[in-house]
Amino acid sequence: MNDTLTDFAQAKIETLQAASLKRSLAPTHRLDGVWVERGGRRLISFSCNDYLGLSHHPKVKAAAIRAIETHGTGAGASRLITGDHPLFAELESKLAAWKGAEAACVFGSGYLANAGVIPTFLGPGDLVVLDELAHACIWAGARLAGAAVIAFRHNDVADLAAKLAESRGGGRRALVATEGVFSMDGDLAPLHEISRLCRAHDAWLLVDDAHGLGVVGGGLGAGRVFPEAHIDLAVGTLSKAIGGYGAYVCGTGPVIDFIKTRTRTVVYSTGLPPANAAAAIAALEVIEAEPERAAAPLAKARAFCAALGLPDAQSAVVPIILGEAQAALAAAAALEEAGLLAVPIRPPTVPDGTARLRIAFSALHPDWAVERLAEAVRPWLRR
Ligand SMILES: *Cc1c(COP(=O)(O)O)cnc(C)c1O
Repeated sequence: MNDTLTDFAQAKIETLQAASLKRSLAPTHRLDGVWVERGGRRLISFSCNDYLGLSHHPKVKAAAIRAIETHGTGAGASRLITGDHPLFAELESKLAAWKGAEAACVFGSGYLANAGVIPTFLGPGDLVVLDELAHACIWAGARLAGAAVIAFRHNDVADLAAKLAESRGGGRRALVATEGVFSMDGDLAPLHEISRLCRAHDAWLLVDDAHGLGVVGGGLGAGRVFPEAHIDLAVGTLSKAIGGYGAYVCGTGPVIDFIKTRTRTVVYSTGLPPANAAAAIAALEVIEAEPERAAAPLAKARAFCAALGLPDAQSAVVPIILGEAQAALAAAAALEEAGLLAVPIRPPTVPDGTARLRIAFSALHPDWAVERLAEAVRPWLRR
């Protein structure tokens, strides 16, 4: 017999609370790229993925406002009906050129991109091999495909090789999926080796570069982080360094053509609001025009790591792993006292025992704020 739904939810909430795993929403005014207001206090945020401060850039905002005035607020239908605004084609050709790909398809969000694309190419009887730390939406796509799902140890090429050697064969199709820059750890995947293994084992490769685009590599080259790696499906989002909302997948002409006719999260979901496409186009133009902006988040992350004697940063994301959820909550509360917002990241977003502060650096962080953060974090470093 069922409990009432309310009793069920209440019991679940109490279990989470007892384990310090209950989450709650905190209304937050983002005043610009880095300052936020929460609970009546102004804090400097080190938790936003708006790495280049483009969500509040005057040119990006102006492009979005113009697009709303001209085209309205919504796409009105799926892209295959009447929702395929001409701005999408312009954005797609810009993204494809940026990634060095033949073509691109824009999506409503990164979650929808991964959840939609993986089941487009794989099904029951096929194989998806994932980095164990791959984003939740990559796992969701793999599970939706109904394929066998195997994880390899994080960034461990030897383990991937062993898993592929064990499980390839039988004529089934296989996809390896990983991230370019890992969202919660900030480290980079060894894409050259992974891509070589994929070719050796006749597997396709999907790379989600949500946290790399616009940040790693700097300036115009930022999209082409690993120019020689052969990537079949290059996924990314417009919601992080691009400062807006939406996502994309790049690939060959036929791959993208097939996605546009078959991927359920394209076919059965309304097109992106045209203003989001206009904002993304403007954001890409700002990045092209200001390479020093794209180089700044990594430089700030490196300065922070150097100040604390941490291993050198590889991206704009630096994890301070504290262990239990309690410890991450306590550290975040202490930082907030010092005027710094670093939201604690707890399981299941990260593996058990690795609760952390995930520090995300922005081009707009003043040097004094990075220094203040380093001093506030220093007492919490694990010995
Ligand atoms: C943020 C993120 C996503 C989700 O993108 P949204 O556009 O926010 O839905 C997908 N993959 C990775 C690796 C991410 O970090």
